[in-house]
Amino acid sequence: MRYLIVSDIHGNREALEAVLDAAGGQYDKILCCGDLVGYGADPNAVTEWARANVAAVVRGNHDRACVGLEDLEWFNPVARLAAVWTERELTEENADYIRGLPRGPLGVDDFQLVHGSPLDEDEYLLDSADARQAFGYLLTPIAFFGHTHVQGGFGWRRGHIEPIGGPEPENGRQALDCDPDASYLLNPGSVGQPRDGDPRAAYVLYSPKERLVCYRRLAYDVRGAQEKIRRAGLPPVLADRLAVGR
Ligand code: ZN
Repeated sequence: MRYLIVSDIHGNREALEAVLDAAGGQYDKILCCGDLVGYGADPNAVTEWARANVAAVVRGNHDRACVGLEDLEWFNPVARLAAVWTERELTEENADYIRGLPRGPLGVDDFQLVHGSPLDEDEYLLDSADARQAFGYLLTPIAFFGHTHVQGGFGWRRGHIEPIGGPEPENGRQALDCDPDASYLLNPGSVGQPRDGDPRAAYVLYSPKERLVCYRRLAYDVRGAQEKIRRAGLPPVLADRLAVGR
């Protein structure tokens, strides 16, 4: 089985469609580490796609926020405005689907999906210290996480944490051969709102049989996504940040 693993799509249809075009024919099933919606202008299109095509998805904090499962007091003003807009926009069927998404960790094959960390779906795994703690709660040798919108992740080998960077800027590709004696927390990166300084859409192709993780980066129609965000009356900063990947 080969997997296309995506995360943090955030209602960005343009980025999602580019990823699906580029990855076509290279996977058998699609998995998602959460945050289908929130920020972007196409929450219904992305949710309908997930309902029809994604084999397993864990809920993200924005998914909860956009269907009334989260106290918006904890969100910054821009995220809150986007959540309120998205909740109004979502059809009843799509809101029901999002409300029913499971909390991670979710087992797939011999690995797991989480949104934040194996212990806490809302925790950000940003540095080696965060990762060191999280590895203590990892029940499988490999888990995929999202939430930070930073592609890459961490390896754990004999007590040492090794940060894993994303792909080379030039070609947008990087392969990771997973060591059977190590453990991994891996972030496919964000499809719809990257925050690692690279505005291109991020995703991962994973083959458990070969223990091979292929990180990918892909240019997409950023302008199209920005225009829709502005037209929808969402906070303009949500459009601006797509161009810089921050
Ligand atoms: Zn997110």
